[in-house]
Amino acid sequence: MSSKKTHGDATEGSTLEDDLITIAKEIIRKTYGDVASKLFEYLLENEYIAEEKIVNNVEVRSNEARKILQKLSDEAIVTPDKVRDGSEILHVWRLNKLALRTFIINRLKKTREKLEALLKYENEGVIYECKTCKRRFLVDEAYANGFQCPHDNDILVEVNNPTTSSNLRDLIKRIDNIISKIERS
Ligand SMILES: [Zn+2]
Repeated sequence: MSSKKTHGDATEGSTLEDDLITIAKEIIRKTYGDVASKLFEYLLENEYIAEEKIVNNVEVRSNEARKILQKLSDEAIVTPDKVRDGSEILHVWRLNKLALRTFIINRLKKTREKLEALLKYENEGVIYECKTCKRRFLVDEAYANGFQCPHDNDILVEVNNPTTSSNLRDLIKRIDNIISKIERS
């Protein structure tokens, strides 16, 4: 397998391993924040991360790191272990690549479902958009917020933009490609 790193489109010209890591980084950063993303990158380069050495190895506060490792462990992305280091026993976390794969597939499928729903509403012309922040809402979300944006209180207006529909279709196609690539491997 080529170890050449490629950037840009995750569905073309890059290895599956690269794609998975790129996607995983993005999902972990968005879901758990920058500290999680630092820990994850460290785990990609190293066999494990020791709780006793978090501050030395990654520049994050160890309390915060522990909390995040616990969350990642709830998703089985990391698993706890113990390692002897001279006279010391270290409490370590290892990356669980198999669980990571499942985690990514599940997230992608959820995103795909959301996009499908958006596309459906978009085709029916019942998408609401905030003119200030451009966030989009399904009709039930817009209704629940009194047709006001929950972020800046601007009024939500109905939009039906054909370019958005085709963007959504493209996005769904890309996600499908990635999912089938991962599932075939
Ligand atoms: Zn807004």
